[in-house]
Amino acid sequence: MNTSWAQLLNDIGACTSCRLCEKRTQPVPGEGRPDAALMFIGEGPGRDEDLQGRPFVGASGQLLDRMIHAIGMDRTDVYIANVVKCRPPLNRNPEPDEAAACLPFLRRQFVLVRPKVIVLLGKVACRYVLNDERPISLLRGSWVQKKNVWFMPTYHPSALLRDPSKKREAWEDFKAVRQKLKELSGDE
Ligand code: SF4
Repeated sequence: MNTSWAQLLNDIGACTSCRLCEKRTQPVPGEGRPDAALMFIGEGPGRDEDLQGRPFVGASGQLLDRMIHAIGMDRTDVYIANVVKCRPPLNRNPEPDEAAACLPFLRRQFVLVRPKVIVLLGKVACRYVLNDERPISLLRGSWVQKKNVWFMPTYHPSALLRDPSKKREAWEDFKAVRQKLKELSGDE
């Protein structure tokens, strides 16, 4: 498999492997630093993302930006992607066959970026990346290590917008991510 960025973006742009291609304006491959130590994974593009072709650019994305800033980084320091690259109609969750069709692209992004820490934003990302069906309220805040990569499940920013009382826990998760990155870079 060719894993160059150019080939990957080309393959995503031309993809018709699942029904989500039918209603998309354009695919949303992901964006950010190509060798980021920190990667974020959400579930799929929403309306704003579908229109702009960029991940997390609506209200949820603005909140995610603020949380990234709060740990001393910005979008240019991290890589942001989703489980599926095309918008599910009416923002429904991706179906298992859609996720299965699209996950090879995310695996190719892992291979290219080689992140040390991955933040999984919400239950859908945990379900398809960790194969863990438990509620995000149980998964969040606990590290999962696989093949030398550290995964931190936390709430999706849209859940924080719906229920701001969850922000305190999400901030704890982000602080743990900041600390893990420091440890892994040898600062502490
Ligand atoms: Fe292809 Fe993924 Fe879009 Fe489905 S969601 S058409 S697998 S790029």
